[in-house]
Amino acid sequence: MQFPKPVICVSACLNGQNVRYNGQTINDDFVRLLLKYCKPLNVCPEVSIGLGVPRDRILVYYANNQFRLFQPVTQKDVTDLMQHFAASFLSTLQGIDGFILKAKSPSCGVSGTKIYKDNMGSIFHSRGKGLFAAEVINTFGYLPVEDEGRLRDEDIRENFLIRIFTLARFREMLSNNISIQNLIQFHQENKYIMMTYNQGKLSQLGRIVAEYKKGTFEKTLNDYKTVFYTAFIRKPLQKQHVNTILHIFGYFSDKLNANEKKHFLHLLDQYREHKISRTVIIELLRNWAHRFNDTYLLSQKYLNPYPEELTV
Ligand code: SF4
Repeated sequence: MQFPKPVICVSACLNGQNVRYNGQTINDDFVRLLLKYCKPLNVCPEVSIGLGVPRDRILVYYANNQFRLFQPVTQKDVTDLMQHFAASFLSTLQGIDGFILKAKSPSCGVSGTKIYKDNMGSIFHSRGKGLFAAEVINTFGYLPVEDEGRLRDEDIRENFLIRIFTLARFREMLSNNISIQNLIQFHQENKYIMMTYNQGKLSQLGRIVAEYKKGTFEKTLNDYKTVFYTAFIRKPLQKQHVNTILHIFGYFSDKLNANEKKHFLHLLDQYREHKISRTVIIELLRNWAHRFNDTYLLSQKYLNPYPEELTV
């Protein structure tokens, strides 16, 4: 099966570059594996604003309703430099499918960054985002943005993978000279992914495609894009996956014997109780789709959302 390569903007220290304050890099097995299936675009905001390697540590502090970035040893406030860099760098990005940033960093941390009440870092305030990550989320709130720490959680990782590969498929389709037939095919193949994420948006997208009239493809495509990018913002709950799984199971229910059905429902209960991972059930549905040669289901990206080597 062919998969597109998601374009991922990544903290350079997670992609083998020795740009950390101490001149080191970060070795994260999953990020390293994932980036082999992506087109990475490295960024190190602290090096980009001229802090150099090695460098004295910087920190985030919160005062007068503002988050500021400060280097205690040099007494340099680098907030404006970082915000200018982030705005100008992010304005140049096109065709990005997601971000993987370094956890807990004062610049790149998506969550868990230590925030202080004072610029010397002596009084703890809370945990939050780094300043560059905050700009990323403000600008690209409709894209998946994660850090390597959060990606260790199976649910968060799955959600990230489904989103980046779905967005990459959409971006690749748009990069060709497409017709309404291509859009209809895309819509059909991604139906169960969209159903899982947002039933309302799936119906809206279905209406946009159905209401297409000759000569209005540009409008149809623009309307589709606008809704599509908002369809994946919320991570689906387990019950939304169960609903999709039951829909797909419905295709086989009259072809399976009583024991097979019982076994499936038992597995589904185990999934509901978090005793097994969803991939076990997806694998079973995929096997049945092959056994009954159901070409419609075999084309469904929900059953093959990303390369299986990434299931860890
Ligand atoms: S966390 Fe961000 S700023 Fe720090 S070294 Fe890595 S890429 Fe550079």
